[in-house]
Amino acid sequence: MAEVKSTCCYCGVGCGVIISTDQGQIVGVRGDPDHPANFGRLCTKGANLHRSAVTDTRLLYPELRLNRLEAREKLDWDEALDYAVDRLATTIRQHGPDSVAFYVSGQLLTEGYYVFNKLAKGLIGTNNIDTNSRLCMSSAVSGYKKTLGMDAPPACYDDIEQAKCIFIAGSNTAYAHPILFRRIEAARQANPDLKLIVVDPRRTDTAAVADLHLSILPGTDVALFNAMLHVLLWEGLTDTNYIRRHTEGFEALKETVREYTPAVAAEICGIAAHDIILAAKWFGESGDTLSLYCQGLNQSSHGTDKNAALINLHLATGQIGRAGSGPLSLTGQMNAMGGREVGGMANLLPAHRDMTNPEHRAEVAQLWGVERIPEQQGKTAVEMFEALRQGEIKLIWIVCTNPALSMPDQTKVREALEKAEFVILQEAYRTTETVPYADLLLPAASWGEKEGTITNSERRITHLNPARTPPGAARPDWEIATDVARRLAVKLKSPGGETLFPYSCAEDIFNEHRATTHGRDLDITGLSYRLLEERGPQQWPFPAQAVRGKARLYEDGHFPTATGRARFANTRYQSTAEQTDARHPFHFNSGRLRDQWHGMSRTGTVARLFSHVEEPLLSMNSEDMQRRGLKDGDITRVSSKRGFCTVRIQASQEMRPGQVFLPMHWGSQSMNSPGANALTLSTFDPTSFQPELKHAAVSVEKLPWQWQMVALRRYGALSLLPRVQALLAQFQHATLGLYGHDEAVLVLRVAGDQAIAPELIEKIDQLLGLDDEDASISYQDTKRGISKRILVDQGEVVAARLTGETAARDWLKEMIAAGLPFEQIRLWALAPLNTPPVGGSTRGKIICNCKNVSEQEILAALDQGTDLAGLQDKLKCGTECGSCVPEIKRMLDSRGK
Ligand code: SF4
Repeated sequence: MAEVKSTCCYCGVGCGVIISTDQGQIVGVRGDPDHPANFGRLCTKGANLHRSAVTDTRLLYPELRLNRLEAREKLDWDEALDYAVDRLATTIRQHGPDSVAFYVSGQLLTEGYYVFNKLAKGLIGTNNIDTNSRLCMSSAVSGYKKTLGMDAPPACYDDIEQAKCIFIAGSNTAYAHPILFRRIEAARQANPDLKLIVVDPRRTDTAAVADLHLSILPGTDVALFNAMLHVLLWEGLTDTNYIRRHTEGFEALKETVREYTPAVAAEICGIAAHDIILAAKWFGESGDTLSLYCQGLNQSSHGTDKNAALINLHLATGQIGRAGSGPLSLTGQMNAMGGREVGGMANLLPAHRDMTNPEHRAEVAQLWGVERIPEQQGKTAVEMFEALRQGEIKLIWIVCTNPALSMPDQTKVREALEKAEFVILQEAYRTTETVPYADLLLPAASWGEKEGTITNSERRITHLNPARTPPGAARPDWEIATDVARRLAVKLKSPGGETLFPYSCAEDIFNEHRATTHGRDLDITGLSYRLLEERGPQQWPFPAQAVRGKARLYEDGHFPTATGRARFANTRYQSTAEQTDARHPFHFNSGRLRDQWHGMSRTGTVARLFSHVEEPLLSMNSEDMQRRGLKDGDITRVSSKRGFCTVRIQASQEMRPGQVFLPMHWGSQSMNSPGANALTLSTFDPTSFQPELKHAAVSVEKLPWQWQMVALRRYGALSLLPRVQALLAQFQHATLGLYGHDEAVLVLRVAGDQAIAPELIEKIDQLLGLDDEDASISYQDTKRGISKRILVDQGEVVAARLTGETAARDWLKEMIAAGLPFEQIRLWALAPLNTPPVGGSTRGKIICNCKNVSEQEILAALDQGTDLAGLQDKLKCGTECGSCVPEIKRMLDSRGK
């Protein structure tokens, strides 16, 4: 057994982990007690990281197809790299540098990001490099730059314990950044006077425990923040001394916010005026307010203004640059910050330099030893895929991201990928939605397999150690990029190009990146791999000679702007890009589940991470459902002007009337449509270029489909996933997922207005091993259109398929997961009834993943009068990672406990 230190790869909290390996395999993970982001704690996703380190769904070798109608063939690395270089060079020669593009990822370590950026901007001479971080935090970047002068979060996690008021806007922190939420819970317990205000259209687990929940209408944040400033002014809660000494532009904003009275904003935001007044008073009177915010502000066509309007409140009250206060944007991905630092975006340059600044371009050219950096901003994410669709970009190299799920307006994005002359996809998994579009697949190393650094939301850099060698021929991202860059430099006869990428290890790249930060706001010239190993993760800036990094920025009130003053942004409320109307009357929103990550390439192989929510469900207010004759479990068609998806519906107390919510994770590898982004629009913020993923106008109609099928398979479920995924598009409605705590059961659910073709049923039977006549038992009621097929192995039921009617599906699924002896269901299996046998109740969803405690079990305990401590004592739920505690508290609240 060996242990190495790394971080969790799932979110910007950047929790430290210790990975255990045995004979080269990852066998366990625990929180690193010394890591300052988490002090040993992990949420449910992080605690299951080792379970995602399976190789069943990994991409193991380079693969190429020369013709899109044919299957890809395996290559060795030399052949793959030569082919990639040939295609790149030919395209560049024929159509110019801007005919190629790179779409990279916040999953890259800083070193990988750095090499790709240099390859595009330094060697090829195109700024067409953008990242999936454009979809999650570019409005935070532009909000900081607009007001504070630089893209630098001024506060830190320790401020949570020091704050007297925590203001969370557009973030379901309990789900998306759970370990920070644990710190908030602990801080509230330690200081019962600490106020928690949450701004969110939904009553999420985060909002439900707040002292004040402002359930604003989607997109109305700027009106709320301006009105809060109005109240702060009215109540004399602004810090005039701070405003006078350290800021500029306040008079114009003051004039603007005059018209944002609480009454006016209440009307716009759909909340009570007195709640706005109360929020402003708590914000201003506390003296130490910490704001945490995320996609609700960022993923908007006015995301920069939303960020800036919130920062205005901190500047106006002087609550910035001191312990317990300040604006702290939360990054979605583990290394979105690292990408910002190396300038790995179409409008940025290394070390927070600006592409529009000729001096900065010249500095970077000199640092890299190239003639020049192109002047023109590259294509940002949405623009990039549109240029691909229009044929302006011919070749795209996609790195560790899944645009065929995560980009808005999937119809256009998929059209772009189909039209591309050549698609290179560097990826760790062969199950993502983008894989079918790839001409050349390059297998990448994944979590636990790479050395490098990441930066978390509080500017803290951690050095990651590899715990195992990558499976198959997979390689670290920086190595792949470096090999291509060297060969391309030769091919393009680039003067001095062959010496541009002299790296023999990740540390060489880190050292070069470090040199680019000299004298910049994020100066890390005092850091090294050795120091990070010896003294642990450090915050930037950390210049040479420094003893430690800076916990907080702007403590002296001096800002990195031309005048040294922070700038108030004169923000005005503008409505969402798309309005609801009679044809599309619902506000559509999407976001995260507690236990899933992004497009599920990692979490989608861990059965227990499906047990909290196991299939895509559209949440709707129960009154809306009643008015429309909808009930829980009905299949609906959700449509926008761009596309549609079919999804089951559930009543949710989280939703206000007129709004619906669908999690972002499910795509066409989990259902028969691209999911939420079939509906979203690609309109983006004019400054941050971040698209409005958080809002679209949709309609919801019931599909009265009666015919159903469920297919279940234990053993080999993971290796079956890709083959069943390939069938999903053939159904009118289908979802595919896993079930189980230790052993995964594959769960395919299908519905339609009529029975699917017998050949398709046969195909499913074949895949699941149900076609084995000797080992399977079948019952057929042709008249009623009902059939059952059960596969038995060594006396246990290991697979089943029910068609026509599936009332027994949940019971059967649980029984298969538990290793049901066939004898117990023999009578049922051969009987006409499809409903579960008498007593066949189900556990329902699992609330506590760590201890495998279900909703039913908690409810039963509550019926006996048990309180939280009693539940934890008796059932042990919520005693390990704590991710389920907010939901348990909600259940207690609903029982008046
Ligand atoms: Fe990973 Fe959870 Fe920590 Fe985020 S909060 S880094 S998902 S363990």
